[in-house]
Amino acid sequence: LMQLSVPLNFIGFVYREIRQAVTDIEQMFGLLDMKQEVTDAPGAPPLAITNGTVRFEDVHFAYDANRQILKGVSFEVPAGKTVAIVGPSGAGKSTISRLLFRFYDVQKGRVTVDGQDVREITQESLRAAIGMVPQDTVLFNDTIAYNIRYGRPDASAEEVERAAEQAQISGFITRLPEGFDSMVGERGLKLSGGEKQRVAIARTILKAPPLLILDEATSALDTQTEQSIQASLDEVSRGRTTIVIAHRLSTVIKADQIIVLRDGTIAERGTHAELMDENGLYASMWMRQREATEAEERLRRAREAA
Ligand code: ADP
Ligand code: MG
Repeated sequence: LMQLSVPLNFIGFVYREIRQAVTDIEQMFGLLDMKQEVTDAPGAPPLAITNGTVRFEDVHFAYDANRQILKGVSFEVPAGKTVAIVGPSGAGKSTISRLLFRFYDVQKGRVTVDGQDVREITQESLRAAIGMVPQDTVLFNDTIAYNIRYGRPDASAEEVERAAEQAQISGFITRLPEGFDSMVGERGLKLSGGEKQRVAIARTILKAPPLLILDEATSALDTQTEQSIQASLDEVSRGRTTIVIAHRLSTVIKADQIIVLRDGTIAERGTHAELMDENGLYASMWMRQREATEAEERLRRAREAA
C-alpha cells in the first residue's frame, strides 16, 4: 500500500499542477466565472506557424443571442505587420482578441492563423503562439519571478531579469526586501495597476511569441513611463504580427493599418494620414483627444504657476 501511494500522490501532484496552469490562464483573462464552451476538435493538429498571418473573415459574434457584438468583421494582419484597433469603449475591441485566442467560437465567418481555422487546431498550440498584454493583468499568487517566467518557463534567471529591465520594472523589484522572490497577488504584495502592467509586459517580452496582442497595454501608466515602455513594446513587436488595441491614439500613429470599430462593424480603415484626410470618426476622435490633452496641459501649467 505504501508503494502504491507514492505514484498516486505523484499523479495527484501532476494533476494539480495541470489544473493550476489551466486555472492560471483562465484567471489571467478573468474567465473563471465564464462558461468554457470551446473544446479541441477530435484529432486536431497543433497550429503550424509559417509566417504568422492573422485573418478575420466576416466574423459575427454575440455573447448573448439577443445582442450582436460583431456584425461581419473582416480584416487581415499580414505577417510581421501591426494593425491597430480603435473605437469607443464597448465597441468589441477586446472581444476580437478573445476570439483570436478562441476563448469563444464565432457564430459565423472564421478566424485563421496562417490559413488554419482556430477551431481546427489545438487550443494549447494556439495560445502558446500568442503573447498578450491584457487590459487588466491579474497576477498569480506566487513570486514576481514566477509571474514573469510564466511567459517562458525554461528561461534563466538572467533572462527574467533582462525582461524586467526592458519593461522598466527591475528597479522596483530589486528594491523589494526579497527582490524577484517577493510574493505578489492576493496573498502577497499588492502592486499598482502600472506595476502589474509592467510585469505583464516583462512576461510577454520574455515569451517573444510570433503573435502579439497589446490590449491597452500601457493604459495604466503615466505618460513618461508609457513613452519609455513603448520603445520596448515596439522592439518586441518588430517583425511580429501585432494587434494593438488602444484608447490613447498617440500609440497607434505608426501602425501599418488602423481599424475603427463602431457598433460591431468596421467604420473606417487606413493609415493615420489616410484617416486624418478622411475627416471622419477617427479624425474626430483624434481632435477630441488632442483637446483633452491640451486642456490637461493648461490645467497643469496653471497649477504650477499658482
Ligand atoms: P471594448 O474592448 O471595445 O471596450 P469589449 O469587446 O470588451 O469592448 O465588449 C464589447 C461588448 O460586449 C460590451 O458591451 C461588453 O459589455 C460586452 N461583453 C464583454 N464581455 C462580455 C461577456 N463575457 N458577456 C456578455 N457581454 C460581454
Ligand atoms: Mg477592451
